[in-house]
Amino acid sequence: MVGVLAITLSACQSQPNQTNQPNVTAPPNIIVFLVDDMGWQDTSVPFHTEATTLNSIYRTPNMQRLAEEGVMFTQAYASAVCSPSRVSLMTGMNAARHGVTNWTLRFDQSPDPKRKNIQPPDWPLNGMAPTAGTERTVVATALPQILSDAGYKTIHVGKAHFGSAGAPGADPQNLGFDVNIGGHAAGGPGSYWGKKNFSAAWRNGARIWDVPGLEPYHGQDIYLTEALTREAIKELDHCADEHQPFFLYMSHYAIHAPWEADDRYTSNYADAGLSEFQTKYATMIEGMDKSLGDFMTWLDQKQLSENTLVIFMTDNGQPKQAPPNLPLRGSKLTPYEGGSRVPMIVRWPGHTTPATRQSTPVIIEDFMPTILAAADVALPNNLPQNIDGISFLSLLDTTQIKSSSANTIANRDLIWHFPHTYDGPPYSAIRRGDWKLIYWYADQRTELYNLADDIGERTDRSQSHPQIKIDLAAALHQQLIGRNALFPQILK
Ligand code: CA
Repeated sequence: MVGVLAITLSACQSQPNQTNQPNVTAPPNIIVFLVDDMGWQDTSVPFHTEATTLNSIYRTPNMQRLAEEGVMFTQAYASAVCSPSRVSLMTGMNAARHGVTNWTLRFDQSPDPKRKNIQPPDWPLNGMAPTAGTERTVVATALPQILSDAGYKTIHVGKAHFGSAGAPGADPQNLGFDVNIGGHAAGGPGSYWGKKNFSAAWRNGARIWDVPGLEPYHGQDIYLTEALTREAIKELDHCADEHQPFFLYMSHYAIHAPWEADDRYTSNYADAGLSEFQTKYATMIEGMDKSLGDFMTWLDQKQLSENTLVIFMTDNGQPKQAPPNLPLRGSKLTPYEGGSRVPMIVRWPGHTTPATRQSTPVIIEDFMPTILAAADVALPNNLPQNIDGISFLSLLDTTQIKSSSANTIANRDLIWHFPHTYDGPPYSAIRRGDWKLIYWYADQRTELYNLADDIGERTDRSQSHPQIKIDLAAALHQQLIGRNALFPQILK
């Protein structure tokens, strides 16, 4: 073990080791590998209790390797749409508290369509901001700012989507990232193709989606996922050379729309009997997985795998255009499991038990406190925000009897809040144990499911279990009020 430590610590630590003694306090490097719009089953890794049809179609060998070397979280949740998840990840706040409950893009403009009977609240549609002064923003200190202050090199690569164009949150460098490659207001790329300059111009799309930077790749036959990976690894090389601990937020645009084939992999699906759409979708997944493998290889080459926490996560379920993620019901934007239950894998040698599964539910606002705990960095005293997330470090060693900390996580309620009219009526939802209640604001209707025996949310138990329905509805109301949630208005 000492030998491993000595090798590991030779490359990336905050202080050069003059005595050649292992520095066991070297801070861990951290990679959050976030994929966009990838559902629970959009992988060859079986997150369900049995392999599914989709598991047999998609090819994600590097996710499989990560799972064999780490812990699969089989009940990991995000919000059901992009910006809310991303703001939660960066701030530790639940979406009901930070209020950025729908996706953001244009300054002061909501994507919500006008409806006759119901309208969304005046939500902070300009996203998150580090300081007050911009209208309709939520003020918070972001995870990378705290890590940067603690000596980490903080690197943002890919999709940001933390705030509207022109607002502070549109630029990751306003949120504590030392470096930003390719991130801005938009939640998707103009194009994935270097030959199209990563721009929507070739299909007469709005230019607000064009990926910023990356000019050296313009006109080249390279896929966006690959270009971002190469740029990220250049930054990591600097960290290794400079012996600086790093926080890499590798936030791929893939596999969000526009669905454009990653032609390196198209031939792999020629005989799979897939639709044209699903073939493109499969190539985008495989290209994303190749990127994950590149980072794992880089860590091995630099002998940094042992001292690096890698978290694989996605920001919401699959889009409605993609095949249903059976057995789950629903897709992105819906309150059903298909909207918010996502693939998650954690590898941190010495902390995670290899090749195990963890079924305790976790949620994306847990990332900030978890990562700070892993880095042994205390929360600043003067944070502007209240933290809803809980560190899940106690869940990484799956061989241990549950600690009180693990029990605290297992026993808490999880909340989702979408007071919007975009792509469907507004709702909130709560999960307590195996029970989940969905509340629809427009008609004040509830649905109650038991996920232990009905993961597909097919049988509404509202009538058969009225007391559970009443208890969960009361808890949901209390939690939303406690988080100062904004509510939709019903118009009579
Ligand atoms: Ca997304």
